[in-house]
Amino acid sequence: MMWIDTHAHLDDERLIGQVEEIISEFIEAGGKGIINPSYDKDSMEASVDLAKRFDLVYATVGMHPHDAKDADESFFDRMKELLEEEKVIGVGEIGLDYHYDHSPRDVQQEIFERQMDLAAQKSLPVAIHSREAHQDTYDILKKYEGRVIGIMHSYSGSWEMAKNYLDLGYYLSFSGPITFKNSRKLPEVAKNAPLDRILVETDSPYLTPVPFRGKTNRPLYVQYVAQKVAEVRDMPVSSLMEAVRENVKVLFPTMTLLD
Ligand SMILES: [Zn+2]
Ligand SMILES: [Zn+2]
Repeated sequence: MMWIDTHAHLDDERLIGQVEEIISEFIEAGGKGIINPSYDKDSMEASVDLAKRFDLVYATVGMHPHDAKDADESFFDRMKELLEEEKVIGVGEIGLDYHYDHSPRDVQQEIFERQMDLAAQKSLPVAIHSREAHQDTYDILKKYEGRVIGIMHSYSGSWEMAKNYLDLGYYLSFSGPITFKNSRKLPEVAKNAPLDRILVETDSPYLTPVPFRGKTNRPLYVQYVAQKVAEVRDMPVSSLMEAVRENVKVLFPTMTLLD
């Protein structure tokens, strides 16, 4: 089998200490690529370091909406420098989070748009984090229609909303919650979404899928997400992962997956 994890925080303190083991177990199981998004200034550096250390790891750089209030000019200066790095393939994770509201909403929106501007300038895809903010997220993405596309990471909205993001050219990435017993709307989204717009991820160390729910997540567990998506679509998981591989190649043309 062949696996790709389009969103894992290997630099998280729960994973970084055993990152070599985590990556080798993933490769041994057929792991071909991992995208490591950033969430703040230190995380950008850590993500780029990981991409340099491991062939199959690629980085995106950006400021998470939680920490939008910390996005000062020195952050943006450094982000622009890191966007020139060879294995930096996108901007993220960026977006809006109205569940926690760790940063004021107007600040979240401003920092989100500034990072969308950078993605547009550099013609890079974005990794979008949106929690309880789907309408405002959509309104901002809509302003960049035709200039920026990317991933709705750990997509958690309805199928109705998903159609709007698909119309803008975005990909839907599924994660652990689709495997949860009480999850009804996510299987519906995964069933209806076009195969050429589907991705899978873990969001490690968060959102651990069944049967490991409650434990620390790791890229190896992307297979449980993929299996669930394949099951609701009534297709073999190998065919689903072939489609994911093609989608990754289209969205991230400079990412080289392992053979
Ligand atoms: Zn996120
Ligand atoms: Zn994340």
